[in-house]
Amino acid sequence: MEVKILGAGPAGLSAAITAVRRGNEAVVYERRADCGGRFKGDLQGLENWSSKIDVLEEFESRGIRTSGFYTAPFRELLLTEGRRGLRRVETSRPMFYLVKRGIVEGSIDQGLKKQAIEMGVRIEFNSCKTEKDVDIVATGPRRERIVAVDKGIVFSTSTEDIAVALINDKAAYKAYAYLLVTGGYGCMCTVVFGDLKKLDESFEETVRAFGGMFRFEVKNPVPVGGSASFYMGADGFVRNGRFYAGEAAGLQDAAFGFGIRSAVISGSMATESLIDGKDYKKEARGKYMRYMEATFTLRLLWEHGLARIYPDLYNAAGKINKEMPLWLSGLFYRDTLINRGLFPLAQRILGDRREEGRSATGVEGSKAFME
Ligand SMILES: Cc1cc2nc3c(=O)[nH]c(=O)nc-3n(C[C@H](O)[C@H](O)[C@H](O)COP(=O)(O)OP(=O)(O)OC[C@H]3O[C@@H](n4cnc5c(N)ncnc54)[C@H](O)[C@@H]3O)c2cc1C
Repeated sequence: MEVKILGAGPAGLSAAITAVRRGNEAVVYERRADCGGRFKGDLQGLENWSSKIDVLEEFESRGIRTSGFYTAPFRELLLTEGRRGLRRVETSRPMFYLVKRGIVEGSIDQGLKKQAIEMGVRIEFNSCKTEKDVDIVATGPRRERIVAVDKGIVFSTSTEDIAVALINDKAAYKAYAYLLVTGGYGCMCTVVFGDLKKLDESFEETVRAFGGMFRFEVKNPVPVGGSASFYMGADGFVRNGRFYAGEAAGLQDAAFGFGIRSAVISGSMATESLIDGKDYKKEARGKYMRYMEATFTLRLLWEHGLARIYPDLYNAAGKINKEMPLWLSGLFYRDTLINRGLFPLAQRILGDRREEGRSATGVEGSKAFME
C-alpha cells in the first residue's frame, strides 16, 4: 500500500520511514519548501528521562537512524533561579541529547529527510494537499491551541559546552530559560507559558540574567522562536478515519514542551497501526494517556511550588547518586498513584484558568482526553 502523510516534521518523516521499512510505499506532502522550515537552527533537547529506554535506542528500534543527525549527549545540567548561584546536576546516563532543528546541516529534520529519501519515500514540497487527501496527519501544533511560546537567539561561539536552565518567572514566566552551547554553537532562549504577551520582557530579562552569570561569546546571532500546543482529545489520535501523530494529535509534554520524542514514536506507531489494521487510538492512548496526565500534573506542581525548589531538589538528588536525578524525573512522568490522584485537580485548576481567559494550558484537551 502507499501511505499518504501530511507534514514532513519528525512525526511525518518517522511515519514515512516506518512505512517503507515495512515494505510499503510512502508519500509525504509538506507545505513548506523544505523539512525543518519551522525552525532556524535552534538547539532542542531530546529528553531522555521519561522512560528508562534510551531515546536514541528507542528510535533505532523503530528503524529511525540516529547517526544521520547531530546528537550531543549531556550528563550535566546547571540549574539556577538567578539569585543563589548555580546548582550542578550530574547523571550517569545522558539526561538529554541536544539536536539541531531547521534547514541546517546536521539537523534532525534534514537527517530524517535524507534517510526517508534514501529509503524511497517521496516528499512533495510546497504542497497544497489537505487532511482529507491523506492517511496520517502530522502537521504540528494547532494554532488555535497555542499554550507556550519561545524566543531567543542561536549563535556561534568559542565558549565551552554548557547547559544551564534558569527558573525564574521574570526571565521565563511559569517556565524556564536556557543557555546551551555544544561544539561552538549556542542557543539562548526563554519559554513562557500561559501569559504569552510576557515573552519580550522575559527574553530581555533572560539576556540580562545570563549575561550577569557567565562570560560567553556571541557571534552572528540569529533570532529563533516558536510556539507549542497541547491537545489530547477524544478525537486527538483518530478523526474521520485519519490517524494523527505528534503535535497534531496534541502530543506534547504539557509541563515543559518536549515533543520530539513522542512525535517520532507516535508517527511510527500510526503507520504500524495502519499497516497491521490495529486500533491506533487504543494503542496510542495506551502509550500516552498516563504520560499526558502526568505532564499535566507536573505542570500543576511546577506552578505551585516545585519550580522554586527544583534546583535544590535536583542538586540534592544528584548528591545521593548519579542515577537519582533521572529516577526523580521518571517519577514525575510515570503512571504513579500520586500522578493519578492529582490529575483531576490539575485538570480543574488549569481548566479554571482557561475559563478565566488567562491561559489555555491545554486543559480543554485534557478533559476530552479522559472521555
Ligand atoms: C521554540 C521551540 C522549542 C522547542 N524545544 C523542544 C525541545 O527542546 N525538545 C523537544 O522535544 N521539543 C521541543 N519543542 C517541541 C517540538 O519542536 C515539537 O514537539 C516537534 O517538532 C513536533 O513534531 P511534529 O512532527 O509533530 O510537528 P512539526 O515539527 O511542527 O512538523 C510539522 C510539519 O508539518 C508541516 N505542515 C503543517 N501544516 C501543514 C499542511 N497543512 N500541509 C502540509 N504540511 C504541513 C509543517 O510545515 C512542518 O514541517 C520545541 C518547540 C518550539 C516551538
